[in-house]
Amino acid sequence: MMSTTEIFTPMEAPTEKTNLLGLSREKMEAFCVSLGEKPFRAQQLLKWIHHQGVDNFDAMTNISKALRSRLIQCAEIRPPEIVSQNDSVDGTRKWAIRIAGGGLVETVLIPDGDRGTLCVSSQVGCSLDCSFCSTGKQGFQRDLSAAEIIGQVWLAINSYDAFPSTNKRIITNVVMMGMGEPLLNFDNVVQSMSLMMDDFGYGISKRRVTLSTSGVVPALDKLGDVSEVSLAISLHAPNDELRSQLVPINKKYPIAELLAACGRYWAKQTDTHRVTTVEYTLIAGVNDSREHAKELAKLLKDFPCKINLIPFNPFSLSDYQRPSKKTIDQFWQVLSNSSIVTTVRNTRGDDIDAACGQLVGQVADRTKRSERHRTNYTESQVVTVR
Ligand code: SAH
Ligand code: SF4
Repeated sequence: MMSTTEIFTPMEAPTEKTNLLGLSREKMEAFCVSLGEKPFRAQQLLKWIHHQGVDNFDAMTNISKALRSRLIQCAEIRPPEIVSQNDSVDGTRKWAIRIAGGGLVETVLIPDGDRGTLCVSSQVGCSLDCSFCSTGKQGFQRDLSAAEIIGQVWLAINSYDAFPSTNKRIITNVVMMGMGEPLLNFDNVVQSMSLMMDDFGYGISKRRVTLSTSGVVPALDKLGDVSEVSLAISLHAPNDELRSQLVPINKKYPIAELLAACGRYWAKQTDTHRVTTVEYTLIAGVNDSREHAKELAKLLKDFPCKINLIPFNPFSLSDYQRPSKKTIDQFWQVLSNSSIVTTVRNTRGDDIDAACGQLVGQVADRTKRSERHRTNYTESQVVTVR
């Protein structure tokens, strides 16, 4: 069973104040300098905001009263607004978040042993229209700001008084796998990922922050110059003909170009032994045959990677089906026999990818039919991201 907390708060009027929540260390230093302060003030502000979860300047006791008054006048710490929060018995927590201007996005936290993986959204909707993706079917509304992206991490952590059981960190991993194509919102995504990894932000290792892309090759090349995060690519097909049907951006940047760009990305990194995660959504009768698996194994023979198979998550606007367990096992077996490390995303019912857009849909639905007080989620709809 799952409990639901609905939090409807009035939309705030937009303000001209600088929202400090989204400022990277460099930008926070520049902001402090613009106020005539020493750059080290930035570290104090960052720690209050991201370590202590503070959203009001009066709580910042190591900052002088005079500066606090100035900050109150020209700045704010404004997280996005939570519309609803859903808890499952196993600890998975999902939020629908209202974005200024009216859109909704979702964020999901999946605790798994010592790990807590947060799935973060980067855009309201998506322009790339992959044929199997509910977010794509919603079209593109707008990019999230850096404050709205890092604000998802802030909200997730601050929604817990204390993490269930021990003193574990609430978030050990972040995956940019929520709504939207992160590389099409480049600057805001890079800025918020830098806060995720910054010791004055959330101090998460670069290996544990993963950007998933459908393959925007020029932006991937740019990413290698400014970031060291882990990389996942949405492949979903072993050849260009099929991939172009499923992931339309393949017509612009075909498979060979995408794999080459991944090679260039890793060549720019200082540490070795890191590999690309290849995401492959298995859709019944479309890309799930033994021949597809063999073709995929051949394609990736010399490409340093691990493969994550994602059983398709059905949604109302799609006729695609999830393959049987037998078909998924067979696909996995072919790849494993080819010595490619392959995992199947642990899906008990829907998973977070299905929730992509689904949770938002439910909130909209509930808003219309306010007599309903329960969601349709059950504990069987929880996923583990590996
Ligand atoms: N836009 C980025 C990241 C968000 S989607 C990307 O495409 O990589 C995260 C993953 O979920 C992607 O691999 C995406 O292809 C997959 N996905 C989207 N819809 C899905 C569905 N209905 N079932 C299973 N996987 C899905
Ligand atoms: Fe956009 Fe990714 Fe969905 Fe494709 S799979 S439509 S790129 S969010």
